[in-house]
Formats: sequence, structure tokens, C-alpha cells
Amino acid sequence: MDLMKYLREVPDFPKPGIMFKDITPLLANPEVLAETIRRLIEIASSLEFDAILAAESRGFLFGAPMALVMKKPLIPLRKPGKLPWKTVNQKYDLEYGSAELQMHHDALQPGQKALLVDDVLATGGTMRAADDLVRQVGATSVGALFILELGFLGGKKNLLPVPTYSLITI
Ligand code: AMP
Repeated sequence: MDLMKYLREVPDFPKPGIMFKDITPLLANPEVLAETIRRLIEIASSLEFDAILAAESRGFLFGAPMALVMKKPLIPLRKPGKLPWKTVNQKYDLEYGSAELQMHHDALQPGQKALLVDDVLATGGTMRAADDLVRQVGATSVGALFILELGFLGGKKNLLPVPTYSLITI
């Protein structure tokens, strides 16, 4: 199954010059979504980790079913002002703008291992911030997992030493 066929390319969204990869066709097809989750779990099964960290908001769509099937805790990484408890915070740059990510300070314990999950790896800014949050609480990221990696934006390098895994790389 060629998952790329279910990613719609939308030019100049949300800003001129950005070729947005729209995952809604993939979400709209239950067989394709199931196969996507199966492939993500196949890769995640080769890693040892205590919890799945999913980035708001599209990361939730893939992190939650993975956590359910793999029987792992799911930790949401959220935009500012969304989490009700005490948080650790990290600002970062996006392919289109800047942002901040937060995590509950007690979501992970020192020494625990996290698997980071999101839909698209672009510049790696989001997942770099996610790894910074993990390190702020004394935990470690064992990997960052994506459906699609935009290789030409160098996100993989930005995430080092955290290894990246993607179902598709373009
Ligand atoms: P980055 O932090 O630059 O790696 O960007 C990754 C985040 O922004 C992910 O949460 C993606 O969902 C989103 N994103 C960035 N660029 C694109 C793109 N060209 N198409 C779809 N989503 C994108």
C-alpha cells in the first residue's frame, strides 16, 4: 500500500511557499489509517520505551491508537495554556512561524524512556522542543517516529542524537 497516495499536497498553505501535506485523505480511509498505525507500531516495537509522547494536535491522532495497542502511557505535548497542571515549557521555531510546547512536569519520571510521535517531520523544531521537555524532567527520548519526513528540511540532523524513523521520506 502506497501511503503517499493518501497525502494531499496543498501549495501555499498556511503561508506562501509552503507545500502542506494534508493527512485528511489518509484519516478518511479506515484501511489506510489501520495500515499506517500497523506500520508505526511495527517500528515502535523494535524500541524500548516507557511512554508515547504525542505533539498537539495531529500527533494525537497516531499516538493514541499506538498507545492503546502497545499498552503504553500516552503523554500529550500541548500548546501554551491548555494543560491544567504544573508544566515544563519549551519555545521553538516552525517551518512557518514560532511556537511553544508544554508538558506536565510529572508526566515522565527521571530516567524513563520516551518515544516521540508526530505526523510530519519538517525542520524538526517541534520534536527538538519535545526532546528538550523530556530532558528537562531528566528522562530520555529513544526515538522520534513520523509518517512523513521532508528530508530536504534537515529535521533529522536537528533531532540528533535522537534517532528518527519515518514511514515515508521525500
Ligand atoms: P517542524 O517542527 O518544522 O518539524 O514541523 C513539524 C510540525 O508542523 C508537525 O506537527 C507538522 O504537522 C507540521 N508541519 C510542518 N510542515 C508541514 C508541511 N509541509 N505539511 C504538513 N504539516 C507540516
